[in-house]
Amino acid sequence: MSRLSYVDESPDGPWSTYLAQVDRVVPYLGSLARWAETLKRCKRALIVDVPIEMDDGSVAHFEGFRVQHNLSRGPGKGGVRYHPAVTLDEVMALAAWMSVKNAAVNLPYGGAKGGIRVDPKTLSHKELERLTRRYTSEIGIIIGPQQDIPAPDVNTNAQIMAWMMDTYSMNVGATATGVVTGKPIHLGGSLGRVKATGRGVFVTGREAARRINLELQGARVAVQGFGNVGSAAAELFVGAGAKIVAVQDHTGTIVNSRGLDLATLMPHVREAGGVAGFPGADRADDESFWGVDCEILIPAALESQLTPARARRTKAKLVLEGANGPTLPAADDVLAERGILVVPDVICNAGGVTVSYFEWVQDFSSFFWTEDEINLRLDKILVGALKRIWDTADQHKITLRTATFAVACERILMARVERGLYP
Ligand code: NAD
Repeated sequence: MSRLSYVDESPDGPWSTYLAQVDRVVPYLGSLARWAETLKRCKRALIVDVPIEMDDGSVAHFEGFRVQHNLSRGPGKGGVRYHPAVTLDEVMALAAWMSVKNAAVNLPYGGAKGGIRVDPKTLSHKELERLTRRYTSEIGIIIGPQQDIPAPDVNTNAQIMAWMMDTYSMNVGATATGVVTGKPIHLGGSLGRVKATGRGVFVTGREAARRINLELQGARVAVQGFGNVGSAAAELFVGAGAKIVAVQDHTGTIVNSRGLDLATLMPHVREAGGVAGFPGADRADDESFWGVDCEILIPAALESQLTPARARRTKAKLVLEGANGPTLPAADDVLAERGILVVPDVICNAGGVTVSYFEWVQDFSSFFWTEDEINLRLDKILVGALKRIWDTADQHKITLRTATFAVACERILMARVERGLYP
């Protein structure tokens, strides 16, 4: 394992997870393995101080990051996360997974990610706007429609993207809609973007279920994280006849073996800020979530959630990684031994960046597509990408994760070799 002096490589941390995933793919890279070290480093990591004036007149400082992991295949692309646990090595791992994801789906992008170490729930609307604008100005030296294009991630949304777009545009003196994706529709956003990641989880899950003869009609689904990704995926699974039997978020865990009524759960979460207190379900203790009776498990919250112990407890036949990096490498081994299929994050949640790509293309051409066109194109791209990955997995008898890394890392390293090493 390579060591970088500025990274805290705690064994269960996301950067260590990513490095272990790279180590597993190296034997399948052939002569490109010579370049594997490229994958274990970030091209550029920017740490910024984000000072803002608070509503009470005091000044608060926040840590901000923007990391560009690899730009061999195109501009950087990846979300911005606002969370109190954001660290440099987390952002590095998330940026690296974006490189792999963008290459796995064959989008013309490298991988990047950003974040601010902050609990946005403690900020007022105005403080959040000042934080976003100052952060955008600070990272403005490395982002741009042709350099690096941020998007929403945990605790960021279309409003935050609008502020980022406006701040960048003010600084360069021209409206630059293509600098971020996930914007509001009337600012150059794309139809279908809000639910695209959840839709991708559903599409890849539907294909995987078909291949292992798992009937979606009546299938029981457990979802961790009921935000942008988890709730949209849940809705689509219910639309296909499945039932959501357990949901866990930062406020607690709720279960209902007859299936949760999403039409009442969604407004409850919006109003109460989480699933806790939902009258149409029983409250359960958080650890019991991992042993709940279900066929499909969707971790759609944060990294490092599926530990080996939880992987031994799960009753699911299929794990769909809506979140980035939810499964520890040792848990991957447990799931593989138990014959539980994992559709890895780097393809499972690629729907969001795929529609972000559509948004970027639409912004450049100033010609906007219908939602049906977007959903059809998304479906086609993900089904094609998953087929290629599945074939690679069958050919080498490897997991879907290692197969996704094999397809993606070959593309990244081929670009590296074809471009040549400067100077
Ligand atoms: P979000 O902020 O909309 O929702 C996050 C959810 O996770 C919330 O329901 C929150 O309560 C829950 N959560 C937070 N901490 C938790 C904890 N300790 N235990 C259980 N639940 C917890 O975020 P999102 O955009 O839905 O992102 C979720 C995951 O999906 C992240 O890993 C993100 O990187 C990944 N992802 C998001 C997108 C996107 O387009 N938004 C794209 C690809 C991947």
